[in-house]
Amino acid sequence: MSAIPLLQETLIKRSQQKKRTSPLNYKERVFVLTKTRLTYYEGKPQKKFKRGSVELSRIKCVEFVRNGCDIIPCQNKYAFQVVYDTNTLYIFAPSQRSRTLWVLMLKHEIQHNAGVLMKFHPQFWLEGLWLCCRQTEKQAIGCEEYNLFGDVSRKPLPPIPGAENNRRPRPPPVPQGAEDAEDVDEDDDVDDDEEEEEEEEEVVVALYDFPGLESHDLKLVRGCEYVILEKCDANWYKARNQYGEEGYIPSNYVTEKTSGNLVQYVWFSKDVNRNMAEELLRKEDKEGAFIVRDSSHPLTYTVSLYTKTRSGVGGPIIKHYHIKETQGTPIQFYLAEKHLFNSIPELIEYHRHNGAGLAARLRYPVRKQDKSAPSTAGFSYEMWEINPNELTFMKELGIGQYGQVRLGMWRAQHKVAIKAIKEGAMYEEDFIEEAKLMMKLSHPKLVQLYGVCSQQKPIYIVTEFMQQGCLVNFLRQKRGSFSLGSMLSMCLDVSEGMEYLETNSFIHRDLAARNCLVNDAQVVKVSDFGMARYVLDNQYTSTKGAKFPVKWSPPEVFNYCKFSSKSDVWSFGVLMWEVFTEGQMPFDQSLNHEVVTMVTNGHRLYRPKKATPALYDIMQLCWNNRPEERPSFSELCLRLSDVLEEDVLPFT
Ligand code: ADP
Repeated sequence: MSAIPLLQETLIKRSQQKKRTSPLNYKERVFVLTKTRLTYYEGKPQKKFKRGSVELSRIKCVEFVRNGCDIIPCQNKYAFQVVYDTNTLYIFAPSQRSRTLWVLMLKHEIQHNAGVLMKFHPQFWLEGLWLCCRQTEKQAIGCEEYNLFGDVSRKPLPPIPGAENNRRPRPPPVPQGAEDAEDVDEDDDVDDDEEEEEEEEEVVVALYDFPGLESHDLKLVRGCEYVILEKCDANWYKARNQYGEEGYIPSNYVTEKTSGNLVQYVWFSKDVNRNMAEELLRKEDKEGAFIVRDSSHPLTYTVSLYTKTRSGVGGPIIKHYHIKETQGTPIQFYLAEKHLFNSIPELIEYHRHNGAGLAARLRYPVRKQDKSAPSTAGFSYEMWEINPNELTFMKELGIGQYGQVRLGMWRAQHKVAIKAIKEGAMYEEDFIEEAKLMMKLSHPKLVQLYGVCSQQKPIYIVTEFMQQGCLVNFLRQKRGSFSLGSMLSMCLDVSEGMEYLETNSFIHRDLAARNCLVNDAQVVKVSDFGMARYVLDNQYTSTKGAKFPVKWSPPEVFNYCKFSSKSDVWSFGVLMWEVFTEGQMPFDQSLNHEVVTMVTNGHRLYRPKKATPALYDIMQLCWNNRPEERPSFSELCLRLSDVLEEDVLPFT
């Protein structure tokens, strides 16, 4: 049977596996639509190689993609989507007309398909998230009704050419010498490999060991390389090691192996300044010990080198060499002007063997003491139910709204905090449902939810263990011992965690120092996010209740229960105040209802003695009556970092 092309055009296709919005992931392909398949080819219409093909009967939705913001990094700006099986193909047409034609033709061809969607996602899936509804599960049900014959903007589509009287639209001419489309239509086994052939392998390097806790996980060894097979979600990838073994790995344990990414090299340490580098090198005390670090100028690097041989009588010396770049293109890198390299790793490799003007050759790479491995989003991919028999219980950590919290061990290896939910304290079913989503929220400044034991009473919530307990007690217990820098860095930690929640459209609703926890490295993490929704206690949930956090709430919350990321920003201002008063109670002389009147009349918390005017300005920005005029958390992160750099670091 000859498969006549109904449409053929060079369009751009987005890679399905890639995380980045890099233009490299957008490739020109010759698309050919026949009665049974949508096939795409690499090359020119005259000489093309098949890259993938989708059977039309498997397509469930064809629709325009509504572009919320300008994120299309290729020249074709008219996006449409083809949803089939569990995949979405994003295709970019060069004009409105071209897109309309493709979408109409495809819709017409799939109109009798059994599996046409009821709901779909009108915007892109990008970096582990549906931009339309912020759901983080790729297979999450669509958020808008799908109407096969209405476009996303709900304007009626123009009639399908020739469709009214069931005539086929005339196919565009097939270019001379084009590969016979019949080949495409033949059922060979490559038809459902919509993607794989063309993808360059993405290789990553492990930054930490990962033991691989379940049989479907893949063990990671720090420094080893792995090929990414699939990015299942933002937190877990399927990968293959050098022995061909495959399994799931946590995405935050690996870094891309690209020449520009220095994090993968043993000789590179991030966030190390000149003083820290000198300290590390002296401690090592080895001839030719060196460290490559960020230099004080953004996006440039410095090599710090320790040598004893040229020091004469004055003891060892430490030299700091700025890695310089040439002006023209391609940019080249050098330490000594005579020796130019295309990349920093090549430069380092050369100077490991050749002093070439340096005080010594780079013999021993030294690295900042490794931070402990970060938390993973759950113990394994898609594992939210924890077997209670694998938990052992240790000392009590505290008692909260929901009941007792205890230190425990999971599989006798991992320290965890276990919250046993007391009877009648929580809307348990709703929470258990939400927990699956909450587990996917994973950030170094959020207390990680590892999972739940939901098949028993009381149910348990298992989270990351934070050695120093809650922030407000930590501040009170250590009052008087905090530097301005350390208080500021606590605020910065919280604002970073909150920035992540804000970008994921997740509202905390009860941000306060009591709901943040501190670990052994004095890192502060945000905890209990979103949990206020599941409290079964009127005193806590009603704005008039005695336990409602009025003193942390903006007017739109205590008046109308209008929660938003901007109401979290108000609470963050109060949290900053708690930090700089080292744990005092806000408005401690006033009752809740008095605070409502005071705040409504424009009264605000005073400037804590330890907060500089610049910091108090930031708090006041958070306490703007109008939510839309409050800064976002991203802006707060920037402002706080600026204060840290300008006002604090120069004096420490
Ligand atoms: P609830 O959410 O039920 O109100 P909290 O989260 O406030 O409970 O926990 C009560 C206390 O238990 C906290 O103040 C803190 O001291 C301790 N705690 C809770 N979670 C942890 C944890 N992950 N690590 C260490 N201590 C914790």
